[in-house]
Amino acid sequence: MRNEGKSICNCCGRVLEQEEYINIEKQWGYFSDRDGTIQRGKICEECFERIAKTFKIPLEEELLTELL
Ligand SMILES: [Zn+2]
Repeated sequence: MRNEGKSICNCCGRVLEQEEYINIEKQWGYFSDRDGTIQRGKICEECFERIAKTFKIPLEEELLTELL
């Protein structure tokens, strides 16, 4: 689905206005069945949180220390 100039979450289909999202880009290589394919997409924070909760091993996270 193309929607000029707008970011859309590939997971839920919502139009992303100012909210942040995760940009996915993967160029699959030789050891993949998708060798030679590039995939691109976006996942909104809400969808990402939902997906991340299903991970067997939680993602690493740390708070950024203030740069001031
Ligand atoms: Zn979403």
